[in-house]
Order: sequence, then C-alpha cells, then structure tokens
Amino acid sequence: MTTPTTPRTVLVTGGNRGIGYAIAAEFVAQGHRVAVTARSGKGPEGTLTVIADVTDSASIDAAFSEVENELGPVEVVVANAGITKDTLLLRMSEDDFTSVVDTNLTGSFRVVKRASKGMLKARFGRIVLISSVVGLYGSPGQVNYSASKSALVGFARSITRELGARGITANIVAPGFIETDMTAELPEEQQAEYKKSIPAGRYGSAAEVAKAVAWLASDDAAYISGAVIPVDGGLGMGH
Ligand code: NDP
Repeated sequence: MTTPTTPRTVLVTGGNRGIGYAIAAEFVAQGHRVAVTARSGKGPEGTLTVIADVTDSASIDAAFSEVENELGPVEVVVANAGITKDTLLLRMSEDDFTSVVDTNLTGSFRVVKRASKGMLKARFGRIVLISSVVGLYGSPGQVNYSASKSALVGFARSITRELGARGITANIVAPGFIETDMTAELPEEQQAEYKKSIPAGRYGSAAEVAKAVAWLASDDAAYISGAVIPVDGGLGMGH
C-alpha cells in the first residue's frame, strides 16, 4: 500500500509549460511546497515561480536562494529544462551541438550541483533528471540531443555512488513521445510514423511522466537510486 509521503520543498526547472508544468502540478496536488524556474510565464497554481536560465550559473544560484528564503531548503530537485536542435549530423553545426549539451546536460549539472549543497547539509535529497528514450535508443537527426540525454545516466549513477550514503538518491526518468510543444513541432507524417512504433499505440501525456517523477521523490522510493525509469509506452524496451 502507498503511504502518504512527507511534504517536501521541491524545485522543478522549466516548470512554466509542458512536462515541467505537469510535474509541478502533481507535486502541488500531493501537498508539497513547490517552486518552478521559468524564463518566461509562470508555473501552475500554488507554485512559486522564480526566473532562471539553466545556461547561467549565477541565475540558478539566485533562483535557489529565492526558493530557500521563501519555501526553505530544496529537498527535491527535478532537472527538466531541455531543448532540441534537430538536424542530420553532416548539417549539424558545432553550435547546434554545444548549445543542446549546454542546456540539457551542463544545465542539469549546474542545477544539481547547487541543490546538492543543501541536500548534503540536510542529509536528505531526491534528484530526478529528465532524460529521454532517445538517449539510449538513438534517433536520426538528434545526435546532439541523444548524447546530452544518455550522458545524464552516467551523471545520475555517479551522484548515486558519491552521495548515496548521505540520504540522497539520483534517478532518471526517460519519457518516450509525450504530447507537448516539443513533439508538436514534428511534421505530421513523422508523428504518425513514430506512433506506429510505440507498443502502446499512442503518445503519452505529461501527467503520466509527472506521476513517475513524484513517486521517485516519495518516501516509498527511498531505496531506489541510479535507476532509469522509462515512461514510454514500451518504445525503448531493453535499453
Ligand atoms: P517544452 O519544449 O514544452 O518545454 C521545455 C521547457 O524547458 C520550457 O519550460 C522551457 O522554458 C525550458 N527551458 C528550455 N531551455 C531553458 C533554459 N536555458 N533555461 C531554463 N529553462 C529552459 O518541452 P517538454 O515539456 O516536452 O520537455 C521537458 C523535458 O522533457 C525536456 O528535458 C525534454 O528533453 C524531455 N523530454 C520530452 C519528451 C517529449 O516527448 N515531449 C520526450 C522525452 C524527453 P521556456 O518556456 O522559457 O522556453
């Protein structure tokens, strides 16, 4: 039976839309104190919105300080902010590659490093990194994105080995195709083609990803760390 979980202070990056918004809403519904970072717009009702860009350490530091002042030390961090810049390898510029890595991978590093300070002090922390099925499955036109997302697995597992004895867990959620602005940008024919390869026969919803993230942050998941949890309708099985 699921036990009610301890209320925590949660920070979700990129919580103004898409999957991050749904994650923040789920944490609010479960009774946590929730802040989101946004570059524009706002998080769902009941959240504190702080302005931050994950490519800028100073803005991350300021956002954490604001959350700590308003809601208390961050106990759960969800590194969700991410971008794509899809194109085939031969056409991919160095900037297309490094900017995606800078947001998705180095951005997660900046956020988690800042979060770990308070977590070490508290000897408690839950780190959830939003990767992608594409990280380990691969995808044509996404060499930059796939590399940035698979690297998060080694990142989470190294954190687990480094900080696991201090009450801190680090896990990966790897969504498949989820209905958000990111996937709406794909050409319709490509969307239909992708759907055919998903065993569940449909795209997932952001709310379905949010449930897995909230569970990893809950008291019930205290002994789970370094895991990759797919939320992909079976698309990436075996990866
Ligand atoms: P969206 O494009 O809908 O939202 C992306 C979010 O990331 C926005 O809140 C955006 O903020 C934020 N963001 C982007 N760059 C930065 C930055 N430099 N600093 C701060 N925030 C930033 O994407 P999704 O909701 O679909 O994706 C969320 C995460 O889930 C991403 O990491 C993505 O890779 C991953 N994912 C998504 C899948 C899908 O099918 N949708 C599948 C697998 C993984 P702003 O509004 O300011 O741009």
